[in-house]
Amino acid sequence: MIHPFISGNKWRKLKYHLQTALQQKKHHLVTFGGVWSNHLVATACTAAKFGLTSTAFIRGEELQTDALFFCKLFGMNLIFTDRESYRDKKKLFANEFENDNSAYFIDEGGAGIEALLGCAELASELTETYDHIFCAAGTGATAAGLIKGVSEKYPESRVSIVPVLKGADFVRREIASQITFETDFDFYPDYHFGGYAKSSPQLLQFIKEFSAQTGILLDPVYTGKMMFALFDLVKKDQFPSKSTLLAIHTGGLTGLLGFKDKFSNL
Ligand SMILES: *Cc1c(COP(=O)(O)O)cnc(C)c1O
Repeated sequence: MIHPFISGNKWRKLKYHLQTALQQKKHHLVTFGGVWSNHLVATACTAAKFGLTSTAFIRGEELQTDALFFCKLFGMNLIFTDRESYRDKKKLFANEFENDNSAYFIDEGGAGIEALLGCAELASELTETYDHIFCAAGTGATAAGLIKGVSEKYPESRVSIVPVLKGADFVRREIASQITFETDFDFYPDYHFGGYAKSSPQLLQFIKEFSAQTGILLDPVYTGKMMFALFDLVKKDQFPSKSTLLAIHTGGLTGLLGFKDKFSNL
């Protein structure tokens, strides 16, 4: 609902980066991501919309995806980078832009204090109190911000985080390390469907039925897993009746296009 391409949590994560870049008169956003990164699409579109330029270092060998197609249409300059050099992002940035004072560094996924503050603002836009607030987690930056915001505005609400990758204990720790105060949250690590960007016919079937019944699309990487978890927990009677549940749609529907073949086999 925020914007078709600067969608969901990605705008919230970018907002304060953009503000800082503009304040520092830096008109070239430089960031990092994989070939299906929603963050890259959002950054490319943000740059275009605010009259800036953008460059992305892309992890791995050159590959064409729908996400990168949109990035290029929004004028983003793409630099494909082997996985080894990709690890040292500060070094890549320094090497490429040592003579470009206008370049502004945005870490992969927009992570940082800017993202935390931007995502915390979500809580101030709520108009009622919910018992449980569900959100998907990749790096957990969005989750950390959300938990921070909700604990300040709605201390009686519980935030439920659904990590989308396997072995997500480090995500739980990452979230906990970013919320400096003692805040408890629920964490459901068993809905990864095999790992990041992995799916199953059951998950895709769920997304298909959900879309047909509600008119709301979900992607198999993030929001599909979160919504599947929520439905499954309801089915397993995890919430007393009359509980109020809020599911946060974090956007990122470009990712759906990477699964066209898998859907067609259903
Ligand atoms: C990037 C993304 C996330 C994950 O955000 P993190 O802050 O990395 O946890 C969740 N949902 C969608 C749709 C995304 O594009």
